[in-house]
Amino acid sequence: MTVGRFAPSPSGRIHLGNILCCLLAWLSARKKEGKLVLRIEDLDAARCPMRHAEQMIEDLRWLGLDWDEGPGSGGPDGPYFQSQRTALYQAALERLEARDLVYPCFCTRAELHAASAPHRRDAVYPGTCRGLTPAQRAERAVRRSPALRLRVPDKEFSFIDGHVGYYAENLERDCGDFLLRRSDGMFAYQLAVVVDDAAMGMTEVVRGADLLSSTPRQLYLYQLLGLTPPEFFHFPLLLAPDGRRLSKRDADAGLDSLQGQTSAEALLGRLAQLAGFHPSGEPSTAAGLLEEFSWEKVPRKDIRLPERLFE
Ligand code: GLU
Repeated sequence: MTVGRFAPSPSGRIHLGNILCCLLAWLSARKKEGKLVLRIEDLDAARCPMRHAEQMIEDLRWLGLDWDEGPGSGGPDGPYFQSQRTALYQAALERLEARDLVYPCFCTRAELHAASAPHRRDAVYPGTCRGLTPAQRAERAVRRSPALRLRVPDKEFSFIDGHVGYYAENLERDCGDFLLRRSDGMFAYQLAVVVDDAAMGMTEVVRGADLLSSTPRQLYLYQLLGLTPPEFFHFPLLLAPDGRRLSKRDADAGLDSLQGQTSAEALLGRLAQLAGFHPSGEPSTAAGLLEEFSWEKVPRKDIRLPERLFE
């Protein structure tokens, strides 16, 4: 059976990009008569207070996007808040440590920044702390608590994305040793998402193309932990009318502004039109879009929003 998920990070009010993500995840799973899990990715407790998570749950309900397991529905694989699942991440980390794949990194943000070419958004970690001796580690640990990094091999990790097709990265060359835990103790997204998607039995992951380049790292973790990866579908990003990436700062794209202008059905119909599978743009429930939806109709290039979403 197909199992898909919504995995929002409640760092603010839900916006058009999250809504499109949830709609596509819902349609992709429901089209195959699968089930959906809602998992709240609130590892960053300071940025993700409970009231935002509660608001997000309410917003999903308003949109009519339902889930079978998660907050409010229960289920066998809870808790469904990442902030309550840290023992699982710790256990996975210890398995990696036991294989000598993890090392402490004492680099400061400024050092990391200086070591990377300024135009690179995803800087390759140059391996500064990889070869420290035990004595050097002990000496640095007195002054600074370290982050933890995973050693990556000089090896290509590839997969066939259900929407964008073939994608590959050489982890050492294109990414470098990546973080599993920050110096403040917070587990990294890459580790948490793999542990949770596997523990919750996900067979498919639908998310924005900004996470495409995270997938090879996650595939490496699946391999190391002996877990089966899901199928991935990365959909194009929504851009603001001027071509910028849409962000939480775009107030018009937030649901508080949208709710004042329109209904859930009008919003879903319009988003489905922009995403290529609902030419009329007529208001519709999510279920009403099931027949028209197919991944082939969704564009592969980013989608630029019109100046006005609704006339
Ligand atoms: N929590 C992430 C986000 O809201 C999504 C992670 C994922 O889908 O893998 O951007």
